[in-house]
Amino acid sequence: MISVDQAREIVISQSKAHAGALSTVRLPLSHALGHILAQEIRTDREYPPFDRSTRDGYAVRASEATPGAKLRCTNEIKAGDFVSEALPPDACVQIMTGAAVPPSADAVVMIEFTSRASDIVTFDRPTQPGQNIVPRGSEARANQVALPAGIRLGFAELAIAAQVGAATVSCYQRPSVAILTSGDEVVPVTETPGPFHIRNSNSVSIAAQVEIAGATPVSLGNAADRVEDLSGKIELGLQHPILVLSGGVSMGKYDLVESVLKGFGAEFFFDAVAMRPGRPTVFGRCRNTLVFGLPGNPVSTMVTFRLFVTPAIDILAGASPRPLPLLEATLAAAISEKARLMHFLPAHLEWSLLAPQVTALTWQGSGDISALLRANCFLVVPADRLEIPAGERVSVLPRSDVL
Ligand code: AMP
Ligand code: MG
Repeated sequence: MISVDQAREIVISQSKAHAGALSTVRLPLSHALGHILAQEIRTDREYPPFDRSTRDGYAVRASEATPGAKLRCTNEIKAGDFVSEALPPDACVQIMTGAAVPPSADAVVMIEFTSRASDIVTFDRPTQPGQNIVPRGSEARANQVALPAGIRLGFAELAIAAQVGAATVSCYQRPSVAILTSGDEVVPVTETPGPFHIRNSNSVSIAAQVEIAGATPVSLGNAADRVEDLSGKIELGLQHPILVLSGGVSMGKYDLVESVLKGFGAEFFFDAVAMRPGRPTVFGRCRNTLVFGLPGNPVSTMVTFRLFVTPAIDILAGASPRPLPLLEATLAAAISEKARLMHFLPAHLEWSLLAPQVTALTWQGSGDISALLRANCFLVVPADRLEIPAGERVSVLPRSDVL
């Protein structure tokens, strides 16, 4: 059986092979958060565009502002002002943070290192040329790449786009992800379940995970464990670049997902991963769609989505696949497992001072949603570790929606 790492590599290489030309959409910055930039954005001018003071103080000629020197303050420059006259000899001008340093001044002295009586300013310390000034063009030249194509637009990237005047940006269209759950026992959230039915929570959690990953969820509801119903709904799902199924992938008599997909001509790249929960996960390609069959237990669905569907979404969204943002934490209480599989245990991560500590939560197997209430992460137990003592450093996969 393949490992989690091997399975992720297969997903990444198949998704790259599958990603064709991506369509683009022009978005205002207010709607572009999380989108992938489809164009390069260049600086419109030099940055900073003028010699900028980084302090409130006095603009001086460094050679004149020596310890004990007294210079006459002849002017005041606020941020946004510009003074074109050169400094007269033995003079200084008061200047604010972010203001343009006047010609012939070559340093700014912090106000804290001066004293002032009327318009005479006395300097305490030696002054170095260039101090507290960011020279024009030192952060970026004009027409230089400010944001490369393919980058994910977070708040800092949006600020850079705004700074260089890109009010709208060309982004890749988000891929649509069809979601189909299956199971005779599953009823819609809006219906009253019979005594042996369960509500369709996976449809909701998968849609949320699709959005967090940066794609558009399209819910196809639930299919009964019958070939005709599954076939009809899978057919609809195959109109999207990614189809995520939950349930029906285990070895049970009514686990029909794989055989129905085969009927559509699907090619499978794996149908089991050495992990728990999530072992019967299926990944393949059917017509023009990447298909994921995730086990139906809610925790299995969440873990396998995070590990395997997210990188496919990254690639079809026009980005590089993001690495798993694993953290290291100290294990608070010993754990022991029976199977040599990589485990992803719902766990609680907390910080005492700056050191993260993680506790595995007791849970009733992978269907236990209530254990997830306290689970802000999954504790990763390598396949070769059956026992881990308290105090050892372990890897943790944080839940990106709550941490
Ligand atoms: P399966 O993978 O079909 O064998 O389902 C495994 C377990 O997950 C069963 O206990 C199901 O009742 C539960 N399950 C399956 N689908 C869903 C769903 N859409 N929402 C919540 N639980 C589900
Ligand atoms: Mg089932």
